Amino acid sequence: MATKEFKAESKRLLDMMIHSIYTQKDIFLREIISNASDAIDKIYYKALTDENLTFDKDSYYIKITPDKENRTLTISDTGIGMTEDELENNLGTIAQSGSLAFKTETELKDGHDIIGQFGVGFYSAFMVADHITVISKAAGSGQAYKWESKGAEGYTIEPCEKDGTGTDIILKLKENTEDDDYDQYLDEYRLKAIIKKYSDFIRYPIKMEVTEQRPKEGSDNEFEEVKEEQTINSMVPIWRKNKNELTDEDYENFYTEKHYGYDKPVKHIHIKVDGTVRYNAILYIPENIPFDYYTPEYEKGLELYSNGVLIMEKCAELLPDYFSFVKGMVDSDDLSLNISREMLQHDRQLKLIAKNIKSKIKRELANLLKDNREQYEAFYKSFGRQLKFGVYNEFGTHKEDLQDLLLFYSSKDKKLVTLDEYVSRMPEDQKYIYYATGESIDRIEKLPQTELVADKGYEILYFTDDIDEFAIKMLMKYKEKEFKSVASGDLGIEDDDKKETETEEKENKDLFEFMKTALDGKVKDVRASHRLKSHPVCFTTAGEVSVEMEKVLSAMPNGQNVKADKVLEINIHHDIFRALKAAFENDKDKCKLYTNLLYNQARLIEGLDIEDPVAFTNDICKVMI
Ligand code: ADP
Ligand code: MG
Repeated sequence: MATKEFKAESKRLLDMMIHSIYTQKDIFLREIISNASDAIDKIYYKALTDENLTFDKDSYYIKITPDKENRTLTISDTGIGMTEDELENNLGTIAQSGSLAFKTETELKDGHDIIGQFGVGFYSAFMVADHITVISKAAGSGQAYKWESKGAEGYTIEPCEKDGTGTDIILKLKENTEDDDYDQYLDEYRLKAIIKKYSDFIRYPIKMEVTEQRPKEGSDNEFEEVKEEQTINSMVPIWRKNKNELTDEDYENFYTEKHYGYDKPVKHIHIKVDGTVRYNAILYIPENIPFDYYTPEYEKGLELYSNGVLIMEKCAELLPDYFSFVKGMVDSDDLSLNISREMLQHDRQLKLIAKNIKSKIKRELANLLKDNREQYEAFYKSFGRQLKFGVYNEFGTHKEDLQDLLLFYSSKDKKLVTLDEYVSRMPEDQKYIYYATGESIDRIEKLPQTELVADKGYEILYFTDDIDEFAIKMLMKYKEKEFKSVASGDLGIEDDDKKETETEEKENKDLFEFMKTALDGKVKDVRASHRLKSHPVCFTTAGEVSVEMEKVLSAMPNGQNVKADKVLEINIHHDIFRALKAAFENDKDKCKLYTNLLYNQARLIEGLDIEDPVAFTNDICKVMI
């Protein structure tokens, strides 16, 4: 009998499978089982229109048979089967699968990219088998055929015997090598685990004979091995069930089974969409931060299923970065198993699903905020930072989506508030949304800069997270109200003392000029303050960069040397001002000493380092003596 050669494309793929160094060889089983399931689907649809065929549910199944003695693994199905021509055409030529068309020669040799996550079909069996026999009998045909191949040389087809309709795929497994274990595919336990992982939701039963240890009858401590046929897969996926059939516990169990996390999710979202885009999804908002969440190692993504078959464990394209904490899965019938990563990225269907999912998550979070503040705040404690990054990243593209999910600690009632809550209770004469930045709530409360705003009775948002101010700079406004740092130059507050301050400033122009020169470029200006009430000094900033931002930027690994334009403000009602004036008139050295001390005090209040601690302590001693 003549051996026929594979078609060129098929040969390439085959070659890749034979020499595959890919570690995730397991997926061959997923591919073969999916084909079997497709074959049963086909006979099912045929039976709908062909009255000679009846679809008796119980007689359709897939069976897995490991045979240790002969080192074979057989996958049988009772599906539609293949005729001689179909064996020739379907197994001799690989269907124009998209994954291959996209790949270059070198990528093919390596194989990493395609084989892992995406379907590569029947030939993937050559990763584990060096000899494959396919025995098939097509529905409505009296004759069965045997297709055989030992790999690259080609294949043969000849008539043979087979009882019922369907297909047996017999894989003669490769011998173990130092690096590769093929015996594992004869092990019941391993097979079960692989089937569970990838093919749990195949609609037809996947059966296998399983050996069980049972207590011997009439004895307590003796066991016997019993062989029993079991259905390995659970068939109906939870996401296909109706929401009203499912309890919270069902969802929680699924979360645990899937190893999405060890915590109990704060909320689950079950989505069933049946419109232009069709998919089912179960999403979870976790309670706890995964240990690696705020590290570069963390990988976002949802499990992606095509028609119940897992095609990707972490599909990153389905989640925006700011919702990267969401766990769960998506199943869509409209996605092909044979899809490459590049195609997936450009897949219109997938983009629609991702967009849809994004708005669902947003809505659920908004609802949680509305209906269960306590739970939302717990969630926010874990993942609020990510939402703030979301506002800041990509030049604020997503700020509209996210601004109403933000919470900040407020001076009023000392608790977290939304921007909407803040704005809605602003007094009429208040022009800005005020905020103050610092390391902790305690420290912010003591900041001298807050005095005037607090005195006015205006609410202040406390920014303790280093991302806060960056995010707010991106927002710029909320409901037409601009954000204003309590440390910024003009606070927009009409103050009764303003005139007096201005007069004092004019009268003491020389003193302030002297102080500025004494500080030798370290501050942009020295001024009389109309925001300080009881404290002697503070910094304010003139430009866009605040002192807090300066700290964050300089702490970054690639240390950006951006400095805030600091202005030293002096409280003219404080006794220290009189002392300064006296020193300026009588003793310029003393005035310089005071200036340095006040400057360093302002640094300390801001949590900045003292540039020269030794000089500073010496200065203090000079004053004391
Ligand atoms: P795909 O499943 O994407 O079409 P495969 O390489 O997995 O690509 O399979 C090639 C073809 O072989 C299938 O399209 C199908 O026609 C045929 N085939 C494979 N396995 C079976 C089977 N168990 N029963 C019937 N036909 C099969
Ligand atoms: Mg297939």
